[in-house]
Amino acid sequence: MEVRTRFAPSPTGFMHLGGLRTALYNYLYAKKMGGKFILRIEDTDQERFVEGATEVVYNTLRDCGMVWDEGPDVGGDYGPYVQSDRKDIYLPYARQLVEKGAAYYCFCTKEELDERRAAAEARGEVFKYDKHCLNLTKEEVQAKLDAGLPYVIRLNAPTSGETTYDDVVFGHLSFPNDTLDDMVLIKADGMPTYNFANVIDDHLMGITHVMRGMEYLSSTPKYNLLYEAFGWEIPQYVHLTTVMRDAQHKLSKRDGDAYYSDFIEKGYLKEALINYLALVGWNPGDDREFFTMDELVQAFDIKRLNNAPGIFDMDKLTWFNAEYIRKMPFDEYLKMVTPWFEQVLSGKNLDYRRLAELMQSRTEVFNRVPDMVKFLAEMPEYDIGLYNNKKMKTNPEVAVESLRMVKPVLEGIEDWSENVIHDTVMAAIAESGKKNGAVLWPLRIAISGLNSTPGGAFEIAYLLGKDETLRRLDVSYEKLCNNA
Ligand code: GLU
Repeated sequence: MEVRTRFAPSPTGFMHLGGLRTALYNYLYAKKMGGKFILRIEDTDQERFVEGATEVVYNTLRDCGMVWDEGPDVGGDYGPYVQSDRKDIYLPYARQLVEKGAAYYCFCTKEELDERRAAAEARGEVFKYDKHCLNLTKEEVQAKLDAGLPYVIRLNAPTSGETTYDDVVFGHLSFPNDTLDDMVLIKADGMPTYNFANVIDDHLMGITHVMRGMEYLSSTPKYNLLYEAFGWEIPQYVHLTTVMRDAQHKLSKRDGDAYYSDFIEKGYLKEALINYLALVGWNPGDDREFFTMDELVQAFDIKRLNNAPGIFDMDKLTWFNAEYIRKMPFDEYLKMVTPWFEQVLSGKNLDYRRLAELMQSRTEVFNRVPDMVKFLAEMPEYDIGLYNNKKMKTNPEVAVESLRMVKPVLEGIEDWSENVIHDTVMAAIAESGKKNGAVLWPLRIAISGLNSTPGGAFEIAYLLGKDETLRRLDVSYEKLCNNA
């Protein structure tokens, strides 16, 4: 039997990382099994409709390389793949259930329901629809329908016994039936509820494996009642644990760590994100950590999905990202880093290629780049305590001497290239009898204002250009003389 999985988002305008991981596992499993990955848009809740939201789904999946075999824009034999385009499909199925006694018409008005809910709550009970309309005779129902009274169609859930099913991740589960409610299948406006449409569509689309968030674990018994009433085969269930920031917290919109777009905007690479996301909730059974999409397909196995919450560790993601950046072809890195340089260095005429060479191995996330390079645009304020360094045998007094020695050397350089700066300064240091560190450490601080920079004194002097290097050197020398 061909494996058919589906990703069935209700488009909100954002792709949550949990959703993206669900899509990923569905994609990986279908590909691994030589089956089909189907995209279905679940937009029956028209009130929540967001303009452009389906495009966000398409773009994100495409961006990440999860190509669907069937879906709204590519078609397929089981379409349409957008629930709102399927709206006429569902009512006849609901009527079939009514005929079988597995569902029934309900004419209770909102006011009546509110009243009964309030009464139940006053008794300290949780309100569950009380099957009031199940007692209507066939004739009474017909009379109300003929009179054009608004109605919904409800599931007739059993009130005793239990419903059980097997889940690939959670094992054998059982739910007491008295917790099930007579959920609405068709709403007063004739539209199906999400709960109903989902089952009908999974069946009609031939879905063999339903892989989705564990928030659906407890609704699944109700879905199974529908399958059973129709006499349809129940798919394999694979419920996925929630992706958490830590043991207590979910990923949250407010902290900017919930959506795919948050991460892309911060400068995480999609390859690193997908690679890490795959490992939040699944493991390959060995100690491999780096996977391309194809390698994930090869390695993926639903038996290795974890049933403990997946902790999405930001530091670990950042580590992955840094590794991916390090391994990028240089020209690709240069192209990606340039706009981040531009944020703070635009108009400065800097050698971005050289700067990128210095930065590639130091870049963990692109949004950290501007802070790391902005000293090239403007000399930061710094404390002369920076000149103290035991290992380099420098302090402010030594630094004054070193800068006094090196300044005319730099002034004398005509060809301001890194090599020439290097060779000239090194020769002068040798001649002066000073230690390299005692000159180069203060020099780098004097022109960068920092004790940690991408590249050393020569690289920075080169990047700044001769005029700016000498200007900064003067300012720092002055500052030292006034304080030392
Ligand atoms: N539309 C549902 C959601 O976005 C999908 C549930 C399912 O996969 O069955 O949560």
